[in-house]
Amino acid sequence: MIEADIIVIGAGIAGASSAAVLSETKSVVILDMEARAGYHTTGRSAALFTENYGTPAIKILTRASRDFFENPPKGFCEFPLLTPRGIIHMARADQLESVKNFLAIHPDVVELSESELHARIPHLKSGRIVAGLLEADAADIDVNALHTGYLRQAKNNGAELHLNQAVTSLAYKDGFWEVTTGKMQLRAPIIVNAAGAWVDEIAKMAGVAPIGIRPLKRTAAVVQYDKPIDRDMCFLNDIDENWYCKPEGSHLFISPEDEQPSAPCDAWADDMDIAAVIEAITEVLDLEPVKVESSWAGLRSFTADGDFVVGFAEDVPGFFWLAGQGGYGIQTAPAVAALSATLILNAPVPDFLAQQGLDFQPFSPTRFPEG
Ligand SMILES: Cc1cc2nc3c(=O)[nH]c(=O)nc-3n(C[C@H](O)[C@H](O)[C@H](O)COP(=O)(O)OP(=O)(O)OC[C@H]3O[C@@H](n4cnc5c(N)ncnc54)[C@H](O)[C@@H]3O)c2cc1C
Repeated sequence: MIEADIIVIGAGIAGASSAAVLSETKSVVILDMEARAGYHTTGRSAALFTENYGTPAIKILTRASRDFFENPPKGFCEFPLLTPRGIIHMARADQLESVKNFLAIHPDVVELSESELHARIPHLKSGRIVAGLLEADAADIDVNALHTGYLRQAKNNGAELHLNQAVTSLAYKDGFWEVTTGKMQLRAPIIVNAAGAWVDEIAKMAGVAPIGIRPLKRTAAVVQYDKPIDRDMCFLNDIDENWYCKPEGSHLFISPEDEQPSAPCDAWADDMDIAAVIEAITEVLDLEPVKVESSWAGLRSFTADGDFVVGFAEDVPGFFWLAGQGGYGIQTAPAVAALSATLILNAPVPDFLAQQGLDFQPFSPTRFPEG
């Protein structure tokens, strides 16, 4: 029997980042069912940092995380975590209402004229896109460096990571959670449920009311075109979120921005979805696809109101939710890790969160009493 102060279930970005902070003062064991940490959603993202995305509470978490990305702790990573990218939200003539709405919520973006759009977007076809909004401070995240940085930090603090360990049962006895995997038995007074699309499965095992998580499949691919893509081009986003693309080396990373309900699983890309987004992009950019280099899909897991769930369950002691990271789990990881440690350890709120005026209430699991 392995004993620890805290057992974290899930070694994606949520589990890894919170384990890194918790292990500064507690003994922590991280369990993941896969042979590789980050195999599921964390390893399948678009790796973008944008402060204009998500609910108001999520935007605060993103803003609060920027400083960590720009100034990570010494030794955390070898190269910068952020690389400037910028986003251009693009609109056809029939999408001008969406431009107005976007501007009303995000007044900091810069309106681009048609000629400015052509100057910034190589191969842009004439006459199709009539408006663009530039979000200049959006950036690419080095997700692998962030994730391995957190796992290294946790290991250096003495945390143990056990892979190929699917949690199969959970029982609360005499103040401890007894956790069983195929090969191990562990116990700790606190478990952190950071199982991504599987968080409700973990809750059911523990006899905790589920939160009604909705895993939504999102497809992505890297496509080679007949002309090399300018590596410095901005991330291009259809203003109504029907497609996006950004440079990936001299190719394009593309997505139809789909949100298809799914059971928790090892998600895969459907060729028809990739064909549809290739077509949407060739309507806007004067490029001919040559080859789909790679394609995949990942599950973005949302709650009914779109906010994360970070907090202890009410009905059972020592069961901590770290769930519902949707499409923002990478860019908010530094703030969410600090928030979860604050709540688990009943510690003072760190200055960088307090300065953002963060209200914990939107993240409370108690808002889903019926699951
Ligand atoms: C196409 C796409 C684009 C995205 N783009 C962005 C972006 O630009 N910026 C951004 O911030 N976010 C983005 N996201 C979202 C981001 O990737 C997620 O919010 C984040 O990765 C969720 O992390 P997680 O740790 O909660 O989940 P996961 O990475 O899925 O980790 C959960 C882990 O739990 C483990 N697990 C489950 N059940 C068990 C069990 N019974 N026992 C043991 N282990 C278990 C799984 O194996 C898994 O490793 C994108 C996602 C997709 C799919």
